[in-house]
Amino acid sequence: MEDCIFCKITTKEIPSTIVYENDKVIAFEDAHPVAPVHTLVVPKKHIANMMELTDEDMEYIVAIHKAIQEVAKIKGVDKTGFRVITNYGEDGGQTVMHLHYHVIGGEHLGPKIR
Ligand code: 5GP
Ligand code: ZN
Repeated sequence: MEDCIFCKITTKEIPSTIVYENDKVIAFEDAHPVAPVHTLVVPKKHIANMMELTDEDMEYIVAIHKAIQEVAKIKGVDKTGFRVITNYGEDGGQTVMHLHYHVIGGEHLGPKIR
């Protein structure tokens, strides 16, 4: 989609530090990490947010979960643990309107929600 930052990252029009990639998803380092590990996992299809997901998008959800497992191993948090977050809407704090999952870890995160 035109003018979508994450579409441009999936097509490499905008550079990013890629952690993992396959035909369905790309995972890259967040530009403003909130923890030692902060990687974003993004479908290579423009889906605005989790509320826009349809049945035919479920293959992307499967791919995203498998990619998160790969990212966790690559970043070395597969044994120590990590948190997965997707923000939606105004109260959720979504700022980029292309579905993405934050993989956050590398330190003890505790029960805080932000
Ligand atoms: P949201 O607030 O929508 O859940 O998360 C958007 C995330 O994307 C933020 O954590 C922000 O730092 C990250 N971000 C925004 N623009 C870029 C960019 O151009 N490159 C990278 N690597 N991350 C970005
Ligand atoms: Zn997009």
